[in-house]
Amino acid sequence: MSSHQIDALTQALARLPGLGPRSARRAVVHLMKKREASLEPLLAALQAVADTLSTCSTCGNVDTSDPCSICRDPRRDDRMLCVVEEVADLWALDRSRLFPGRFHVLGGRRSVHKKIRPEDLSIEGLIGRVASGGIDEVVLAMNATLEGQTTAHFLAERLEKFPIRITQLAHGLPVGGELDYLDEGTLAQALRARRPVA
Ligand SMILES: [Zn+2]
Repeated sequence: MSSHQIDALTQALARLPGLGPRSARRAVVHLMKKREASLEPLLAALQAVADTLSTCSTCGNVDTSDPCSICRDPRRDDRMLCVVEEVADLWALDRSRLFPGRFHVLGGRRSVHKKIRPEDLSIEGLIGRVASGGIDEVVLAMNATLEGQTTAHFLAERLEKFPIRITQLAHGLPVGGELDYLDEGTLAQALRARRPVA
């Protein structure tokens, strides 16, 4: 039996993506056992983020400042813009440190089933950034899903009129991927994107 407060904490943690009731209970036990090493730093970090959280008005990233730290970074290449569906995608690409340019978060994707209107996504913001010039290449880094690809196609049409290079992530075999573990979609994409042996 645990108190109402501990139950409330467990339930709040269990609602986080990637956690469930079982992981949440384990996390709570850990936090209670390691009060100084885990609970208090977590509390301070949550409070600091909650106090300063903001959405970047340029790119849609979530950060503790607006413009966000990526938009403010003078070392980044203004000529390259990478368009992603969600903030988590931006963070994943940024963690890889492979993309030197700036980002733009759509905040969703164009659905073929549910009718998401272009104005629901930050497409106008994207068009505005491209129209204001200085960008040579837009990388459409959508998910390799039907909806992601529909979004990419839609964006490519909207961006066609600008003198820029429009590129898309290659989809295919993941590094270290073994053929018999791949789903059919990935395998089909890899086969379609096949290239001559160098
Ligand atoms: Zn930003």
